[in-house]
Amino acid sequence: MLVLDGKIASAAVKASLLEQTTALKAAGKRTPHLAAILVGNNGASETYVASKVKNCEETGFGSSLYRFEETVSEQELLAKIEELNKDKNVDGILVQLPLPKHIDDAKVIEAIHPNKDVDGFHPSNVGRLVQGLNSFIPATPYGVLLMLEYFNIPTKGKNAVVIGRSNIVGRPMSVLLSADHPQGNATVTCCHRYTPKEDLIAACKNADILVVAVGIPEFVTADMIKPGAVIIDVGITRVEDATAKKGFRIKGDVNYEQAITKASAVTPVPGGVGLMTIAGLLMNTMKAYEGKFYHN
Ligand code: NAD
Repeated sequence: MLVLDGKIASAAVKASLLEQTTALKAAGKRTPHLAAILVGNNGASETYVASKVKNCEETGFGSSLYRFEETVSEQELLAKIEELNKDKNVDGILVQLPLPKHIDDAKVIEAIHPNKDVDGFHPSNVGRLVQGLNSFIPATPYGVLLMLEYFNIPTKGKNAVVIGRSNIVGRPMSVLLSADHPQGNATVTCCHRYTPKEDLIAACKNADILVVAVGIPEFVTADMIKPGAVIIDVGITRVEDATAKKGFRIKGDVNYEQAITKASAVTPVPGGVGLMTIAGLLMNTMKAYEGKFYHN
């Protein structure tokens, strides 16, 4: 059984990016710059943004963090995005989701210039991705592709099942696994909340590659796993635990202890896809800096 260790795979991506930024600095050039916007003080969002900023520093990228109170108006947020769109020293803009209820997520995402949309959520990038054109790839599915590439996991002609159809993970993931590129060309089934449980279990039992992004801790159990399957666990849920130092533990969507008894490869949580998501974001920011989109 192979542990698909996100620490190892993301370190390789980051080492290559650091090499590039070191060369840029040596040539007296500026390096890629990521601007992050954080609204309110949701604990998980704080952790994600802090980690993104730290990873920028570690790879020689510049970064700036703009914090807004929970009560910020939509207009104020859009004005900041407009300012960052125009700023020639900013290559990538990310707005940490979720936003407070009074702010329209879709409007905010559409305000980001598609050439700086390093999260890959802008409809223009999503449309290009679906058509197989150069585009930013949403960071989490991109991270999964980088993980598959690093560990040489074949996908061509394989049966892949994606559970979840969100705009940020499940849907782009299922499009990418079926698209014509080295980490694609699989036959893909996308399951969601309206897939009857017996159909979902039958699909999973036949999956050579199973990507799980539902947000329900330990949703996938051993009986749902095909022997020898590759399991990619995207789920991250904080589960209360009084014995843990922080009062909670991070749980994935897959029962890891059970999965390792049947699968050929599994991503741990934490230490798997989460770290690859940051690698995907950094890759997108470098591509934005270079003025090129992702090439299939
Ligand atoms: P979401 O809530 O937007 O989507 C969940 C999806 O699961 C939906 O499409 C829904 O149809 C499906 N679903 C819900 N219940 C189901 C059921 N019983 N059977 C089948 N499908 C069901 O969530 P999301 O934003 O896609 O995130 C999913 C998980 O991934 C969460 O735990 C989230 O925290 C995590 N996540 C992790 C990363 C990372 O970097 N590792 C990044 C993004 C999200």
